Amino acid sequence: MTLAHQPYDDIRQAIRALCQDFPPQYWRAVDAEQRYPDEFVTALTAAGWMAALIPQEYEGAGLGLAEASVILEEINRNGGNSGACHGQLYNMGTLLRHGSEEQKRRYLPPIARGELRLQSMAVTEPTTGTDTTKTATIAERRGDRYVVNGQKVWLSRAHHSDLLVLLARTTPIDQVARKTDGMSLFLVDIKSALRNGLTLRPIRNMVNHETSEAFFTDLEIPAEHLIGEEGRGFRYILDGLNAERTLIAAECIGDGRWFIDKATAYAKERVVFGRPIGQNQGVQFPIAECHIEIEAADLMRWKACTLFDNHEPCGAEANMAKYLAAKASWEAANVCLQTHGGFGFAAEFDVERKFRETRLYQVAPISTNLILSYVAEHVLGLPRSF
Ligand SMILES: Cc1cc2nc3c(=O)[nH]c(=O)nc-3n(C[C@H](O)[C@H](O)[C@H](O)COP(=O)(O)OP(=O)(O)OC[C@H]3O[C@@H](n4cnc5c(N)ncnc54)[C@H](O)[C@@H]3O)c2cc1C
Repeated sequence: MTLAHQPYDDIRQAIRALCQDFPPQYWRAVDAEQRYPDEFVTALTAAGWMAALIPQEYEGAGLGLAEASVILEEINRNGGNSGACHGQLYNMGTLLRHGSEEQKRRYLPPIARGELRLQSMAVTEPTTGTDTTKTATIAERRGDRYVVNGQKVWLSRAHHSDLLVLLARTTPIDQVARKTDGMSLFLVDIKSALRNGLTLRPIRNMVNHETSEAFFTDLEIPAEHLIGEEGRGFRYILDGLNAERTLIAAECIGDGRWFIDKATAYAKERVVFGRPIGQNQGVQFPIAECHIEIEAADLMRWKACTLFDNHEPCGAEANMAKYLAAKASWEAANVCLQTHGGFGFAAEFDVERKFRETRLYQVAPISTNLILSYVAEHVLGLPRSF
């Protein structure tokens, strides 16, 4: 498949050129060492790509979600893993949409210049999981500060970020009219917090994805680090999720295309029983099916991007794009591994690494069941299950 037929060819070529400095050996090594791909993220930031969604008035590139999605798609399409840095693209959206002008002027230009990283968002908790309104982390106002106590889990990239966006309850759930009220968002300076009540404990996991448990013990946050209005944090978070889901869909599409290319090439070259394995329809058809499904998911991704960039509601499309793309990339991963037979398990083929990486997107940043629940209840109007 050629890149020339894909939209935004200029961005694709530029990312592709940058990715050539980070060949499969690089990603294999950082995976084996469970190391953060700092060199790659630094190069991407220096080239300005991490500031894609920051408006030009704050020194960013002022591009749309469509362009940003192409950046992440191409990183994954070229064998890399955007999971190391995608948060930098969309986490600043919360600040951009809901932060005060002073916060935006203070933080967005250094983020755009690559001097500050805002890569982390702390929402998930170990006890309440997907049931975010039951958030047990409390931020209590005391004078000009908030004092935070509680615990978060799966806090990604915190060791490679200067700032994080924290969701905490500021009014107990039994004192609010709606369970989605009474939660607030804060911008936390990670390094200062680590000296002042925040403890991070890394979680070793299936992929090379830096993520931690976070414990907050009387962490003091200056009141001016509240983002937007107190009590409206849940709404602000939801607002940013459409961008996140659409971008993750694009990553999955990049993964899917990588798997299909890899499987196709191998099926043409591997000769068993005196002919290329790809001559057998039993090998061809699953690859063809994956290609069809990735292309279909891509259509929904563009629909979500167009609506988002036109400031139109896109919750259904963003969720459906993420669902279709994550499912299609996972199926492509499985087919690619099967096509490679035993060699699919050998690290030097990169298939097993990408197989693990793309599996994550069935669970995070939102699990497949929760998307189905959103579509069933918010799009189709079926009775609420929770
Ligand atoms: C590598 C990694 C990185 C992550 N990074 C971050 C991050 O940076 N910040 C952050 O806040 N979170 C992060 N997460 C957390 C991630 O968003 C959650 O794991 C995910 O949303 C699922 O929540 P949970 O693990 O609590 O599952 P649970 O809520 O415990 O659910 C477990 C399973 O039950 C299903 N389930 C639960 N309730 C229902 C229901 N009512 N109907 C049907 N099915 C249901 C779920 O779909 C899921 O499959 C990360 C997770 C991972 C693994």
